[in-house]
Amino acid sequence: MNAVDYLRISLIDRCNFRCQYCMPDTQDWHFLQPADVLAATELLALVQDVFIPLGFSRFRLTGGEPLLRPDILDIVRGIVALPQVKDLAMTTNAFLLEPLAQDLYQAGLRRINISLDSLMPETFATIVGRDSQNHQRWHKVWAGIQKAYQVGFNPLKLNVVIIPGVNDHEVLDLAALTIDRQWHVRFIEFMPIGNGDLFCDRGWIPSEELRTRIRDRWGLTEGQVQGNGPADVFQIPGAQGTLGFISQMSECFCDRCNRMRLSADGWLRPCLLNETGQLDLKTALRDGVSTGVLRDRVQELLELKPEINYKERQSGTMGANYSRTMSQIGG
Ligand code: SAM
Ligand code: SF4
Repeated sequence: MNAVDYLRISLIDRCNFRCQYCMPDTQDWHFLQPADVLAATELLALVQDVFIPLGFSRFRLTGGEPLLRPDILDIVRGIVALPQVKDLAMTTNAFLLEPLAQDLYQAGLRRINISLDSLMPETFATIVGRDSQNHQRWHKVWAGIQKAYQVGFNPLKLNVVIIPGVNDHEVLDLAALTIDRQWHVRFIEFMPIGNGDLFCDRGWIPSEELRTRIRDRWGLTEGQVQGNGPADVFQIPGAQGTLGFISQMSECFCDRCNRMRLSADGWLRPCLLNETGQLDLKTALRDGVSTGVLRDRVQELLELKPEINYKERQSGTMGANYSRTMSQIGG
């Protein structure tokens, strides 16, 4: 069993996109009231006084869309300033990134993952919803990616969810982005969580099938850059960047799981795939429970985690009955 030292922090449940597989615009969304979202000071207190003493040293800011937080730079600065923090990364849709990239870098952020499911503005608009005629969205995201690269984010990773019949014909074009640039493209198997009507019956394509397509075109070698996470990393021979495959549907990597998730309203969740054991840290903190007591409760949850990890997989109900969606959990 891996040490659990990685916390994914959802900073906000709202988003400026409505990706069909995450927050489809065919549904009504009820978001948290601002007062119910963990404030930056509360979050930093939890990181410093609860998670770091328990051995957490790697953190990711996600959402919803983390760049919608007006205090995002303060949060980055606050976490980077803690000497025990070995790694801070962010996952963003990059729509707001271009004007913020330099400031984020100066605040101390170095690693960024950007979701980019298509190189075609029309397909992108269909996937990210809201206004499917608005092809400018893709251009704004692309400008954000270029800016992040120019500013020096490294590694710069692009997350691609492959949806059968929607963007799977772009696999080679997306993989080709890694040839001349030091970009790391990570293909994520499409998960049956929160999918809207448009995408619900499409199934998913196993990573091995994507690798076969790429291997047939260029060949594939095992990459040099092994990340901290669940991605299997490969490389097109001679390419500057790498190709990662996150195969949570076709493989079970629960036994390698090194993470917990904190939602924007302060619920700590030990496993993405089930809701067993969740702890409401925000309410406890606001009720005056000391960080020392919270630390003990999180420690107990850490001890239970190995048991919780396999629960839904074994019962065969993976993804069937979540009360929270990916945008609330943070992916
Ligand atoms: N808004 C940010 C973004 O899109 O990068 C961060 C939050 S988003 C929930 C984090 C990641 O979860 C994204 O890379 C997204 O593609 C992925 N995701 C969301 N729903 C998914 C699903 N049903 N299957 C696989 N990945 C999903
Ligand atoms: Fe928003 Fe990210 Fe979900 Fe898309 S995947 S709706 S960008 S939170």
